Amino acid sequence: MTDTIERIKCLIIGSGPAGYTAAIYAARADMHPVLYTGMEPGGQLTTTTEVDNFPGYPDGIDGPAMMIDMQRQAERFGTKVRIGMVTEVEFSKEPGGIHKACVDNATWVEAETVIISTGATAKYLGLPSEQRLRGGGVSACAVCDGFFYKNQEVAIVGGGDTAAEEATYLANICKKVTMLVRGDEMRASKAMQHRVTSTKNIDLRYNTQVDEVLGEQVVEGLQMVNNKSGEKETIEITGLFIAIGHKPNTDIFKGQLDMDSMGYLVTEGKSTKTNLPGVFASGDVQDKEYRQAVTAAGTGCMAALDAERYLSTIEKTEEKEVTAN
Ligand code: NDP
Repeated sequence: MTDTIERIKCLIIGSGPAGYTAAIYAARADMHPVLYTGMEPGGQLTTTTEVDNFPGYPDGIDGPAMMIDMQRQAERFGTKVRIGMVTEVEFSKEPGGIHKACVDNATWVEAETVIISTGATAKYLGLPSEQRLRGGGVSACAVCDGFFYKNQEVAIVGGGDTAAEEATYLANICKKVTMLVRGDEMRASKAMQHRVTSTKNIDLRYNTQVDEVLGEQVVEGLQMVNNKSGEKETIEITGLFIAIGHKPNTDIFKGQLDMDSMGYLVTEGKSTKTNLPGVFASGDVQDKEYRQAVTAAGTGCMAALDAERYLSTIEKTEEKEVTAN
């Protein structure tokens, strides 16, 4: 540790819609936020092409451009945006306590409040052909990208609630959806399974996995393999959706913050409060259900308001203590 440690009123970790929205609100409330971007400045949206469902962009906007706009808006009110990865934290358990965060395994900063917006990372299959065609027809978000495949034939991989929900969403837009489930049953709730099996244009394939995604620049087809018989089959598709789960980016908070069994941060009631005073969580890191840019932005706003209220409560308590003495 260096001798003089920077003291920050509001430290924001993460640079997706949640982090930047928290920054806009915190900066306008004179909390002088400092935001560390993490490894992927702009977050998951920088891996998307067109964003058509964020209100305020009637003609759509591409993901990276939208994130640059959000960053500029946060900076306009004085947010300090820094490239850097928070690699370790030491949170205080006391109300009014000072939280510590280490950036890039090198520099420690101290913060009166912390807003965690580290997001979640979509899992991919890991096939070279899938990785090559990410952004060229391979997507991990049907709600974001499904529209581009209107009246076309697509496939989706996964058998959980997300895959089931996204398959039915795609079935409304696309001509046909081939759904690949690797086991002989789906993990999704019975109600979601029923929705899938009763949707006519979903072709549900059990015991089926992706062997290879076909196409050079864009997805043109899919080679599937039945993992019981070994039989291969090729279909023509223009879009492949991967819905095999997300991993919340919470490793550095383990042992300090309450998490659910999947590692998502747990927040109190309708608020963004974690189990520690002065530490708040917003965006996908605490939301496995909605996962939209606009919902993440909404909780970013809430986190900044929660942090502001927390600071004013602490300040009032300190004033009372001074008067009493
Ligand atoms: P899940 O972890 O529940 O499901 C992942 C699915 O992907 C499983 O079917 C799994 O197969 C499959 N899978 C994993 N790895 C691979 C692979 N390499 N190849 C092929 N298939 C693979 O993730 P979800 O995102 O679906 O859901 C996460 C949580 O969010 C759950 O608790 C879910 O209930 C909840 N959720 C709730 C919603 C709602 O209530 N409306 C909507 C969306 C999510 P296998 O089963 O064989 O392991």
